[in-house]
Amino acid sequence: MHNDCIFCKIVSGSISSEKVYEDDDVFAFRDINPVAPTHILVIPKEHFSTLNDIPENKLNIISKIYSAIQKIAKKEGIAESGYRTIVNTNSMSGQVVFHLHFHVLGGRQLRGLG
Ligand code: AMP
Ligand code: ZN
Repeated sequence: MHNDCIFCKIVSGSISSEKVYEDDDVFAFRDINPVAPTHILVIPKEHFSTLNDIPENKLNIISKIYSAIQKIAKKEGIAESGYRTIVNTNSMSGQVVFHLHFHVLGGRQLRGLG
């Protein structure tokens, strides 16, 4: 728990969110500023600032996150129609919240990257 991290506060419940999924290691909630009909953020409960900051011995969190994403996509009804997962890393990507998060976007036709 990082005291100054907004997503750590969402995991702990001290900032409210619209939760869509939770297990021992992973938490997911709706993006406050959605850019698609379904826009969910999937995060590890443990604080890693960016993808660069996961130590090698903790990389199994990535498969736990993708396992959660499979379930969430099915539940949201976008598994078959299609969806996109995005991880922004550091400034040139546009990352603004420095707690690792996977955007899950779906529910409309998505076009190009960048
Ligand atoms: P990124 O640019 O990848 O760092 O994206 C951060 C995302 O977090 C943006 O899409 C924001 O809309 C979203 N966000 C920021 N604060 C909150 C919050 N309190 N609850 C839900 N989503 C948030
Ligand atoms: Zn955090």
